[in-house]
Amino acid sequence: MECPTKLYYSGKKEYADQSRQDPFLAALADGGFQVGALARCYFPGGHMIGQLDDQAALTETARLLRQENVMLYEPAFLYENLFVRVDILVKENGCLRLYEVKSKSWNPVQGQPFTGKKGNLTAAWKPYLYDVAFQAYVVGKAMPGYVLEPFLMFVDKNAECPTDGLNQKFRIKRVSGRKAEVQIINLTQEDLSVSLLAAVPVEKYVSMIMSGYGTKDFDPLGFEGTLRYFSKFYGRDERITPVPGGKCEKCQFKCSEEDEETSLKSGFKECWKETFGWEDQDFKDPLVLDLWDYRKKDSAISERKLVLADLDEKDIGMKDNGNDGRPGLSRTKRQFLQIEKAKTGDFSPFIDRENLGREMGRWHFPLHFIDFETAMVPIPFNAGKHPYETIAFQFSHHVVEEDGSVRHAGEFLLADPGVFPNYMFIRKLRAELGNDEGTIFCYSHYENTVLNAIHRQMQQDGGQPEDSDDLLAFIESISHSSSGNERLWQGTRDMVDLLDMVKRYYYNPSTNGSNSIKYVLPAVLQSSECLQRKYSKPVYGAEGGIFSMNFKNKRWIEKKNGSVADPYSLLPEMFADISSEEMQRLMSGEDESAIRHGGEAMTAYARLQYEEMEDFERGAIVKALLQYCELDTLAMVMLYEAWREEVS
Ligand code: SF4
Repeated sequence: MECPTKLYYSGKKEYADQSRQDPFLAALADGGFQVGALARCYFPGGHMIGQLDDQAALTETARLLRQENVMLYEPAFLYENLFVRVDILVKENGCLRLYEVKSKSWNPVQGQPFTGKKGNLTAAWKPYLYDVAFQAYVVGKAMPGYVLEPFLMFVDKNAECPTDGLNQKFRIKRVSGRKAEVQIINLTQEDLSVSLLAAVPVEKYVSMIMSGYGTKDFDPLGFEGTLRYFSKFYGRDERITPVPGGKCEKCQFKCSEEDEETSLKSGFKECWKETFGWEDQDFKDPLVLDLWDYRKKDSAISERKLVLADLDEKDIGMKDNGNDGRPGLSRTKRQFLQIEKAKTGDFSPFIDRENLGREMGRWHFPLHFIDFETAMVPIPFNAGKHPYETIAFQFSHHVVEEDGSVRHAGEFLLADPGVFPNYMFIRKLRAELGNDEGTIFCYSHYENTVLNAIHRQMQQDGGQPEDSDDLLAFIESISHSSSGNERLWQGTRDMVDLLDMVKRYYYNPSTNGSNSIKYVLPAVLQSSECLQRKYSKPVYGAEGGIFSMNFKNKRWIEKKNGSVADPYSLLPEMFADISSEEMQRLMSGEDESAIRHGGEAMTAYARLQYEEMEDFERGAIVKALLQYCELDTLAMVMLYEAWREEVS
C-alpha cells in the first residue's frame, strides 16, 4: 500500500533491500519476540503450527481445524494466490476469532484512534488495520460459513505489571542462524493475572476497508479489486508502473554505499529511470528528496523538479520570520541555503559567526557534554511498572575547561539482566554534573524527554527511592518540563541543545541535508583544519593527552581516498556476529534522533537483557557500548571546538 511497484522488487535477491534485515535483531529491538510469546500465554492450550514450510503449515492447519473447537498459533490460510499466517486463531461455536499481535503501544484511555473527525481512517493506524483486513479477507474466503471476528492486540501502556521479574522470564535463544525461539521460564498464574496486552475489536474498521468507506486508498478498484490487481501483477512477475513521489525518499530498494560496490540492483534507480528517462549520471546531483525537512516533495516531483537546482524561493515558500523571533536561520532560509550551495557547487560550510558567537559568549565553564542511551521494553522489570517505560541505561560525559582542555569525565552503564537502572543513572548523573554551574549540552531534545520520563516515574513510583526529593530537584535544575508533565519547571541550568544550534547557525553541505551528529561529525572534521591538526596525532587516551575511559592513544583523523574517514567507522563493530551493514538496515527509516537513540545501543541492551550468551560475548558488547557512547559526546566536543575556532 506504500507503493505497489515495491511488489516487483520484494523478495528478489538481485535487488538491494534495506528492510531485509535480520529478523532476529528486528524482533529484539522492538520487543516483538516477547510480545508474541506473552500473547500466546494469555490464550493457553493452543496448537503451535510454528516454523513449518508453507505447504506443511496449510496441511496441519486444515487437519486441526476439523475439530469443532480449537485454538491455533500461527495457522496458515490460502485463497487463490493469497497466503497468510495468523498470529492466534480461536475456533469456537461456529465463530473464528482472529488476533493479530503487534508490539505497538496502546493507550486505552485515548478512545478509539482509528478514525478522525470526519470518519476517515487515520494515517498512523492504517497499516495495522489494512494488515488485519487482509488477514480477515483471506481467512474469510478460505473458511466460508463462519462468523469472523478480527482483533488487533497491542501493548497496553497503562497496564501495571503484577509481579517482579516478569521481564526476565522471556529469554531468547538463537537457533539455526537467523531463527530464534523464546524460552519461557517459571511463569506463574500471578504473572498473568493482569493482561499487559489489549485485544481491540476491529470488525467495524475491517468492514469499512472492505466496503471502501473511510479511505480512498483502494480507489478505483475497491479493496477486493485492488488485491486482485496486485496479485495478478505479482503472480506474473510484472512491475506495476511506478509513480515516484516523496515516498521514494525512504524506499527500501535504494542501494546503500556498500550495495553500490556489489552487483546489487537499485529498484529506486530503475523507477526513476523509467519514469523520467534518467541515466546513471543524473543521480549524482543532489535530489529534491535530499532537501532538509521539505514537505512539498510530492508536488515538486509531479512538476518534474527532481534535483535541488530545479527549486527556487517560490517552491519552498521562503519566510524570514519562521524562527519564532529567535536569531539564526529559519527552516525555509536553511532550505534555500542548501539549494543555493547545490546550485553553485559550493561545498564550504555556512556559519553565522555573529549570532553563534553571541550565544557562545553566554556559556559558563566548565562545559559539560552529555549523551544518553535508552531502551523501551514491552514487559516491565518490576511490579507496578508499565510497558514501554523509558529505561535509561547509559550515559557518557565529556568536560571542556576554559583553557580548552578536554577530558572524558565520566560514564554510566547498567545493563545487568532484570535491573531497573533509572534511579542509579540519575544519581550518577547528579554526582557528575552537580559540583559546578557549568553549561550542559546535549544533542537533540531527547535528553530532556528522558529526564522528564524519569521525573514522572519517580513521582508515580510506589517504591520511591529515599533521595527522590533531591533527585527530582536535580532533574528540574538541568531540564524543562515537557508537555504532559503536570509539574511545570524551567531549570536554571537547562541543557543547551547543540542540534538546535546547528539548525540555526551552521550548515555543512557534506551532510547532504542531515543534521544527525553521525553526519555532522565527519563533515566538521573534513572542513576544520584545527580539528585535523589536533586529532591526527594519537593524543586521545594518551598520557599527557586527552583523558579517555575507553580508548588508548587513539588517532581520530584517518584519511580514505583523500577524505577524512567517518570516526564511527573506525570503531569495532558493535556485534561480532552482525555486520555494520545489517545494523544500518536496522536503523534505516527512522528520524534523526531515533537513529541515534533507537538502533545499535537499544539492540545491544536488548541482547544483554534477554539473550543467552557467554561472558566473553557480553564483555565485548559492553566494551563496544562504552566506546560508541564516548564517541557521541566527543563528537559534540569536536563540534564545539570547530565553532570556537571560527568565532574567536
Ligand atoms: S522508488 Fe518510489 S516508485 Fe519506485 S518502488 Fe520505491 S517508492 Fe515506489
